[in-house]
Amino acid sequence: MWRPRVKPEHRPVRHGTDRVRIGGIVPGIAADIRDPDGWVWALLGLLDGSRVVDQVVADLVHRFPTHPADEVREAIVDLDRAGYLEDAAEPAPTGLSAAELLRYERGLGMWRWMDRAAWSSSWKTQLLLRRSRVVVIGIGGVGCTAALDLVASGIGRLHCVEPDVVELSNLNRQILFTEGDLGRPKVQAAVQRLKEYNSDIHITGEQHRVDGPAAIRELAASSDVLLLAADEPQHIRSWANQACWATGTAWVHGGYHGPLVNIGVYRPSVGGPCYDCAYAAEREHIAAQPKRTFWTADTSPPHAASAVSAGIAGHLAAHAVMSLITGVPALRVNRQFGVSLVTLQDCYALGPDAPHPGCPTCGPHRARHR
Ligand SMILES: [Zn+2]
Repeated sequence: MWRPRVKPEHRPVRHGTDRVRIGGIVPGIAADIRDPDGWVWALLGLLDGSRVVDQVVADLVHRFPTHPADEVREAIVDLDRAGYLEDAAEPAPTGLSAAELLRYERGLGMWRWMDRAAWSSSWKTQLLLRRSRVVVIGIGGVGCTAALDLVASGIGRLHCVEPDVVELSNLNRQILFTEGDLGRPKVQAAVQRLKEYNSDIHITGEQHRVDGPAAIRELAASSDVLLLAADEPQHIRSWANQACWATGTAWVHGGYHGPLVNIGVYRPSVGGPCYDCAYAAEREHIAAQPKRTFWTADTSPPHAASAVSAGIAGHLAAHAVMSLITGVPALRVNRQFGVSLVTLQDCYALGPDAPHPGCPTCGPHRARHR
């Protein structure tokens, strides 16, 4: 029987005599509760996992007769729905080996901390990851880091797609490769290295250059989430968008523009707007601005990237992939997110709130891609 307990990571604190803060200091989790007569604080004290709900209610009503049992039960339900409670009487998890329980023990605390859904099982997130299939297109700087994060976190199956071989100029950021890999196909080196990190995971790869939406559609159809970690050819994000909208596959893109790191997170099953909507909206915004004149000097710098810029993009992309798989945390979807490494305080979320009426992918004309 359920013995509700406040999650240790969400430990409440009483401020003065009339306010309780639960969830610590983390934005998106913390909440303030007004509590002038102290009954909420008393309730949280009873939610220590030593009592079933009926006992909690009886004890609280005895101490605070002005708060009827129904109100107390409702408060417990609200705390549970907000993700603050777990079950102290939860049986030992099934479906994970002793080695898996040990390997992912520290991750459990993170999932529990970020999970704002009503309680079900402490290991549900890990089990959802283990059943998942992810394809990563592009094993460059972003793809290396993201693939490693996904493998370390315990996803079920990973398929890597990448056409190139390892070059010396890759080694400042593509963390799966070593000097001994120079000249090897990246996908071959990456699969080998990833298996060394976690032999429990089914990891495959193909040396292949994606050349259009059809090729991506095939990859998307066999995966739960597609991660696009390549920025070439020019329209590859739109191709991925079309492919994933056609198959209904959730997808993420990760990249950077110098020190501006960004990801996009999309779930077609909830409807638009999609990546192409955002692209169309951006073009319209630019067209409405005063005409821009670009400096014409012939200075095209080399591709600017570091282990930090590519790595942070990869970490954020892997985080978004796992959010789409597990719902933890429940990130806003159909949006792009970014952060400037120059200030570390200019984070942004971009994208229209509704589908673009002329969008060829998720709008009225989308049938042409199916
Ligand atoms: Zn669209």
